[in-house]
Amino acid sequence: VEPADLLIRNASEVVTCRGPADGVRGPALSALEVIPDGAVAVGAGRILAVGTTNRLEARFNASETIDATGCLVSPGLVDPHTHLVHAGSRHEEWEGRVTGRPTSLAGGIRWTVEKTRKASDQALTDSALADLDTMLAHGTTTAEAKSGYGLDRETELRMLRITKGLDHPIEVIPTYLGAHVLPAEYADDRAAYVALVIDTLDEAAALAEYCDVCCDPVGFTVAECRSIAEAAATRGLRLRVHADQTGHAGGIQLAAELGASSADHLEHANDSDIAALASGRTIGVLLPGVTHHMLEMTPRVAGSRLEDAAYPFMPLLARRLVEGGARLALATDYNPGTCPTLSMQTIMQLAARLYRLSYAEIWHMSTINAAAALDRGADRGSIESGKRADLVIWNVPHHGMVINRFGTNLARLVIRNGRPINVRSDRSARR
Ligand SMILES: [Zn+2]
Repeated sequence: VEPADLLIRNASEVVTCRGPADGVRGPALSALEVIPDGAVAVGAGRILAVGTTNRLEARFNASETIDATGCLVSPGLVDPHTHLVHAGSRHEEWEGRVTGRPTSLAGGIRWTVEKTRKASDQALTDSALADLDTMLAHGTTTAEAKSGYGLDRETELRMLRITKGLDHPIEVIPTYLGAHVLPAEYADDRAAYVALVIDTLDEAAALAEYCDVCCDPVGFTVAECRSIAEAAATRGLRLRVHADQTGHAGGIQLAAELGASSADHLEHANDSDIAALASGRTIGVLLPGVTHHMLEMTPRVAGSRLEDAAYPFMPLLARRLVEGGARLALATDYNPGTCPTLSMQTIMQLAARLYRLSYAEIWHMSTINAAAALDRGADRGSIESGKRADLVIWNVPHHGMVINRFGTNLARLVIRNGRPINVRSDRSARR
């Protein structure tokens, strides 16, 4: 009999999400490993073994046990795309979009930039911590977080310093997104702003793990993104790309060519983009929360008039991506404008409803593949011996029910590094 710190036993199901460290793709996406009457043994913050309760009870003598009768056990969810640190809420702007009635309100990323520049470090930190509490309560144990609401050297670096300094059970991975959109004050001089983004890289590289560029009609051109990305790579930053969300800008091709860790959004991907993802190392990150919140596949309202949807029908694209052999992950894209949700559960539900992905595909994309999109697929994202013991015990017995039962939080207990976490609920995001 071997010693263990913790044995979770009697789970209705353990869903391991086991797969290659660089992500699950192709037919394997549909082959989810599910262990009925499952158990997980944990020692020194790592997974020792996973199997049936009978087998693991015979093998381990644990100092602590958790009875998971009637519950599903899964890996901790990984959110590989968020804009966590920001000030202000844009709910009023959204009402205008929903109703089709014009509002006089200023909106957009630049509005958030203004608010964020004016916010104190303390206010930004407090809101980010409260948001992380909510993410954790909903089952997320690792999250990426981008700058990109400073768009000047001082605020961009300040955002990264705040992100890096967040003291929270969720591991937060900072990304420098100086090239989010062109700030208003550089409207007449794009080259000068691109030079500033590059000039800030030395300091950003000390605070961030990734550099992200927005290669999109609303962001920057392939040439601009390439110059930033290449400069970032020489400073040891890995790459991510906001790619082809509002139109085809060549972002996916650029991400694949540069070996970026992820290309995110993908709404306007064509067949050669899909082939580029399939043949390279870049993970495609789908963001169905944006499709939902921005009403992208929904007819547009203009007063009493209905107009065609402006965006591609995502179920067909998602299917082409899966069948084309791309490795895909899901993320919230948490931000105040286009997707104000902190819950990967909600994203998993929307991935089924809006993108018509299967339960097995969605579980892989929210765990092992999301970890792979953060270059951590060897360390976490699945329940396999040796991996970090980041786990969620759910209030439902079947993995499909997490996706089927929408609108309430189904996570019962979140375990980080082998330790059950008491999620705080006393902090509020004062935006
Ligand atoms: Zn984003």
